[in-house]
Amino acid sequence: MNIKDLVRKRALVTGGAGFLGSHLCERLLTEGYDVLCVDNFYTGSKKNIAHLLDSPHFEFMRHDITFPLYVEVNEIFNLACPASPIHYQFDPVQTTKTSVHGAINMLGLAKRVKAKILQASTSEVYGDPKIHPQREDYWGHCNPIGIRACYDEGKRCAETLFFDYHRQHHLRIKVARIFNTYGPRMHPSDGRVVSNFILQALKHEPITVYGDGSQTRSFCYVDDLIDGMVRLMNTPDELTGPINLGNPNEFTIVELAEKVIDLVGSKSKIIFEPLPSDDPIQRKPDLTLAKAHLDDWTPKIDTSEGLRKTIEYFDELLTGANQYDPYGGS
Ligand code: NAD
Ligand code: UDP
Ligand code: UDP
Repeated sequence: MNIKDLVRKRALVTGGAGFLGSHLCERLLTEGYDVLCVDNFYTGSKKNIAHLLDSPHFEFMRHDITFPLYVEVNEIFNLACPASPIHYQFDPVQTTKTSVHGAINMLGLAKRVKAKILQASTSEVYGDPKIHPQREDYWGHCNPIGIRACYDEGKRCAETLFFDYHRQHHLRIKVARIFNTYGPRMHPSDGRVVSNFILQALKHEPITVYGDGSQTRSFCYVDDLIDGMVRLMNTPDELTGPINLGNPNEFTIVELAEKVIDLVGSKSKIIFEPLPSDDPIQRKPDLTLAKAHLDDWTPKIDTSEGLRKTIEYFDELLTGANQYDPYGGS
């Protein structure tokens, strides 16, 4: 056995077969970790991790984190949870269970093995925010009984659990509040705005803007986000977060539609459809804390470059020999 194998850190990535999780597994492998990826394939896919399966430092386990999990690891990245409104609203009770029961199990695991644990929280904890841009000390404006609540309130309760395990059991925690992130391996039918617009533009179909398109979001390319998460995990124990991670580059949804049409060179026209209820009007991270604590971390990939890479990925899915089949084998 190589001496490096004796000191190799072992990381558990829950939701590791999803969009962000698969990129994180990849990054941790390049950082020299042993990676245990746990996923129940609720929204993730074997294809997202197929290229990692040959690595002797990568292991996959099919498991639902709402049930206890007994493994031995040093670090836990808790990403398991459907993230797009269509997916998390499909079975809202399961969404809350995943956030809450899942967090309890992963925190119980972290407590037993004394692992450091990072929660993939979300800008959704700010709800439809009344302050702009959003800072971590803003408590948010959420509807606890609306259609987004299973996700927003589930993630808020998970944050509560993280901080109570920290105070009560002295767990080493890190809470990342992730803002809208996009890139290759987004699920093509999860209805998120970037994947929807790119696929519609590539097919020269109408671009569906919900509402009048004046609502804003700030979009971060996946590599920048993953870099922020890894840096956060490596900060001193005193730093618990919550810390915003995202890109402050804010667009209206109509501006995003126009940009995608332009980059694709599409003949698509914009059409307007009803705005889903409780859809936040604006979202933009205040990154002061992230910059101060994550070694000057700041997103590097601008929107045009990130969108180009994502367009390339979806173009290959549509035209390539390997057409995307989320339920297909690896
Ligand atoms: P995703 O749907 O691609 O990934 C989620 C993964 O979790 C999937 O592989 C899914 O199968 C798995 N999963 C769901 N429930 C599970 C369960 N009970 N047990 C085990 N695995 C389960 O979504 P994503 O965009 O990669 O998001 C990953 C995490 O980041 C989520 O926790 C999400 O809330 C958070 N986040 C993402 C964004 C974003 O813009 N992508 C923004 C904020 C927060
Ligand atoms: N748990 C787990 N893996 C472990 C340790 C605990 O999944 O290695 C689960 C366990 O099933 C429990 C939950 O984590 O329901 C919370 O654990 P904790 O020790 O905080 O609470 P307790 O076991 O006292 O209820
Ligand atoms: N949206 C849209 N057309 C679509 C998909 C989404 O106009 O085809 C809008 C949606 O109403 C929201 C924004 O784009 O205002 C971002 O939606 P997404 O589901 O990607 O993320 P979230 O609302 O969770 O930030």
